[in-house]
Amino acid sequence: MAETPVGPGRLLLAGRRALVTGASSGIGYAVAQGLAGAGAAVAVNYHSDREPAERLAAEIRAAGGQAVALHGDVSNEEDVVGLISGTVEAFGGIDLLVANSGIQKDAAVGEMTLKDWQAVLSVNLTGQFLCCREAIKAFRGNPEQPGRARGSIVCMSSVHEVIPWAGHVNYVAAKGGVRMMMQTLAQEVAAERIRVNAVAPGAIRTPINQSEWATKEGMEAMLRLIPYGRIGEPEDVARAVTWLASDEADYVTGTTLFVDGGMTLYAAFIGNG
Ligand code: NAD
Repeated sequence: MAETPVGPGRLLLAGRRALVTGASSGIGYAVAQGLAGAGAAVAVNYHSDREPAERLAAEIRAAGGQAVALHGDVSNEEDVVGLISGTVEAFGGIDLLVANSGIQKDAAVGEMTLKDWQAVLSVNLTGQFLCCREAIKAFRGNPEQPGRARGSIVCMSSVHEVIPWAGHVNYVAAKGGVRMMMQTLAQEVAAERIRVNAVAPGAIRTPINQSEWATKEGMEAMLRLIPYGRIGEPEDVARAVTWLASDEADYVTGTTLFVDGGMTLYAAFIGNG
């Protein structure tokens, strides 16, 4: 290690240039805030909701940071190429990608339409693949430095990369795919000093699962699955992503970091099952 990556007066991601997809709400919004708070320049991608992304970018700039809001659909190849080039144009390069965008279109298998199957796979798996591919190509232009990857990717997975979930077969298929995609890419580009990891949130309070946590009964049912006894907040995930993206995690690649309050510990077995 040539230098200590953090220390008094040094921010964890000072000088880094990041793209966060799906950053106009929920986890992506908190991740963009978290990366900016750690010193990174951040491209805040939005799909349908421009205003919060523009507002967040303006807030980051007002606090002395660097940020732009960039429109793009991650399931569209041309848009993804534009997101990477837009980040490079804004900041002179790109070092970090957080492939976060995701949707749910839930239905029991008999009622799940091909359209809804494909929509979820297109955003949650193909979208992450396109973002990873274009980011890796851009990272290859970054110089080699001791103790620092040429580029770092964090894929937003889910506890459902390992926990089956009836009524959500499209979502779990995509997240299971993200796990193997992440590990395979990590293996493929490790020698180029590019890191690829995933964060797998459990139940986090965001718009995607509002129907579950917004009612008392829904929250109680959710808490029965969480040994740690509270729902997660987007900031819980943002802190994990910030660490994983940073040089503090320079020797970590091909790993999923679960941020789930113990949801993957099989709460039903507490008290001997
Ligand atoms: P959210 O609905 O607030 O965020 C999803 C984001 O993806 C939105 O900003 C949306 O605009 C964006 N998006 C949707 N389609 C897009 C497209 N085609 N192109 C670009 N962006 C698009 O929900 P969230 O909970 O913040 O979800 C973020 C990620 O976290 C998702 O990948 C989700 O699967 C994952 N996740 C969430 C939880 C949870 O409990 N909230 C748990 C595990 C994993």
